[in-house]
Amino acid sequence: MRCTRCSYCKYIPYDLVKSSRFAYGCPSIKAGKFHSYSAGGKLVTALSLMDGRSEVTDKVVDIAFKCQLCGNCDVACKMCRYDMEPIMALREFRAHLVEMDRVPESYRPIIERTRAAMAGKGPKTPADRNAWAEGLGLKDPSTEAVDVVFYAGCKYSMEESLRETRARAAAQFASSNDVTRATLEEQVAAQEKLVKALRGYARLARLQFDGGRAPYSTVLQAEEQLFPAELDWAAARAQLCASLVGIYKAMGGGWVAAAERLSASPTRPASSP
Ligand code: SF4
Ligand code: SF4
Repeated sequence: MRCTRCSYCKYIPYDLVKSSRFAYGCPSIKAGKFHSYSAGGKLVTALSLMDGRSEVTDKVVDIAFKCQLCGNCDVACKMCRYDMEPIMALREFRAHLVEMDRVPESYRPIIERTRAAMAGKGPKTPADRNAWAEGLGLKDPSTEAVDVVFYAGCKYSMEESLRETRARAAAQFASSNDVTRATLEEQVAAQEKLVKALRGYARLARLQFDGGRAPYSTVLQAEEQLFPAELDWAAARAQLCASLVGIYKAMGGGWVAAAERLSASPTRPASSP
């Protein structure tokens, strides 16, 4: 291990430090206030364990799991010191402690609940994990180019009861809306071209009329064509926006209750004419 205990990993890269108030980059050392809580300190601790010079104590467990695995140390070490991989070593350190069943007590209920939730449920291999999408005709982003990646999430892709109602339904909705969106985008572009051409026609008709070269009916004729084209363009753009909102909601974006209320069509009072 090439760590030279330089402590650069406690801070943001030095050339970016503007003030001592904001110099710390490692939340672990900032909270722990002892060298072992830094990345360099953890590497020394891990080396000592590997060499059999020390044992795993509650303090060691605390040091390993107070790390946020945020990666600041990895960047600082690479920029200021060596092309090392401190973050990989920190992950391995924690994995080793988990294998030894040395984890903070506060983690145990979470581990138990996760184990119970996973017991006997869901696929066991990455291939099974994609089983929810069978028969939908979706492209595989790992082998072919795609415009949109749909991530079903662990629970929806692994729990059979949720696959059909959530993952498959959302993917189907999103892909059908995506086709609609692509078609609408073409429509909007074509309509925009038409509006631009008709605006030019209307402008020239007005110039001709102003110069006494054409009757006013030419101006009216041009504007009669322009106005409905502008309405169609606006309607196509509105449809496109609605389709994008649909995709956003289908992908889990949700909607804001206040916006829903505002966008609801107003109901006409019974007494209104
Ligand atoms: S991990 Fe890198 S930056 Fe941190 S003390 Fe070791 S050599 Fe220095
Ligand atoms: S990954 Fe851990 S040791 Fe590294 S900067 Fe973040 S909290 Fe500190």
